[in-house]
Amino acid sequence: MERSDIIRWLREERPETLQVLWETADRVRSAEVGDEVHLRGLIEISNHCRRSCLYCGLRRENSGLRRYRMSEQEILECALKAEELGFGAVVLQSGEDLWFDEGRIASIIRRIKERTALAVTLSLGERRAEEYALWQAVGADRYLLRFETSRSELFERIHPPLERGSAGRISLLRLLRRLGYETGGGVMVGIPGQTLEDLADDILTFNRLELDMIGVGPYIPHPGTPLAAEPPAPVDQAPASDLMTYKVLALARLICPQANIPATTALATVNRENGREMALMRGANIVMPNLTPARYRALYEIYPDKACVSETVDICFSCLKGRVESIGRCVGAGRGDSPGFRLKKALTISAQEN
Ligand code: SAH
Repeated sequence: MERSDIIRWLREERPETLQVLWETADRVRSAEVGDEVHLRGLIEISNHCRRSCLYCGLRRENSGLRRYRMSEQEILECALKAEELGFGAVVLQSGEDLWFDEGRIASIIRRIKERTALAVTLSLGERRAEEYALWQAVGADRYLLRFETSRSELFERIHPPLERGSAGRISLLRLLRRLGYETGGGVMVGIPGQTLEDLADDILTFNRLELDMIGVGPYIPHPGTPLAAEPPAPVDQAPASDLMTYKVLALARLICPQANIPATTALATVNRENGREMALMRGANIVMPNLTPARYRALYEIYPDKACVSETVDICFSCLKGRVESIGRCVGAGRGDSPGFRLKKALTISAQEN
């Protein structure tokens, strides 16, 4: 697909024409990754953050937020619960919190791996290459690091770098891939100043990076952050709507047919009624039920009014399972590796053996 075709789809508003996009994405999803919907249990291990991202409620300057860190034991208990509920994977996510240093994270990964058969995904932000390498060596399987927008000036403006000239997320994603992680990137849709052309470049970047996982959700302003006060771009601003997010998801499916693509919580937040179902019918094949203990959940406030903050783990699970089954799909068993990644790994192993 050419850039101009992608832009044309992003501009398209006629429901009957968009129906063609939805149906094609759904067909490709079914053929390439099947009808099973895999569950990843999300464990938000800390809301401490050293960064000052203009969009995120966890930014260090947000003094209105009570900060927490889960203990190793609490994290392990969540992982055991994930396995008991039949999930194939857990995602450990946090702000950029250096208290969870190399050794602490390694110890948590080892303990989860000793006690369960879960795939372990990390989403801990930008860390040192040696840390990424150690965590991979002790058993971490996947890493999620959204590049947020492929336009570097916009990215640097909303995500001030720690040091001048530090490696951008796109090069970190390449590093993670070389280290052997199943690699996930993604973007927010509707960042003030982001145009439809930018979104088209983002979608092409998913393909260029050969991502195994692609996370896309609408940008939701957080009143405690500077970006919430910013006006949208004067021309061609991408709307932060559920409809625009479905378009990006569907196009991501067409351009990366074998990727694992979640129906995200941000999407469920802007369309509580059926945002997740719509995403699953327009290209997505993953959902990420929240396993964070109730006492911490509301504190992981990257944006306000997050869907599912007040539900218990069991209610969250049965609600999501019900939503999956209501659209004629089923919850998948096993780790749910991306088929493209399995193939890449097999090719690397056979190349090494020869
Ligand atoms: N510190 C980690 C995890 C951040 S939270 C990291 O930076 O990778 C995970 C994702 O939430 C971010 O990558 C971003 O895409 C999304 N997010 C943050 N603030 C948001 C907001 N205001 N609206 C929508 N999504 C947001």
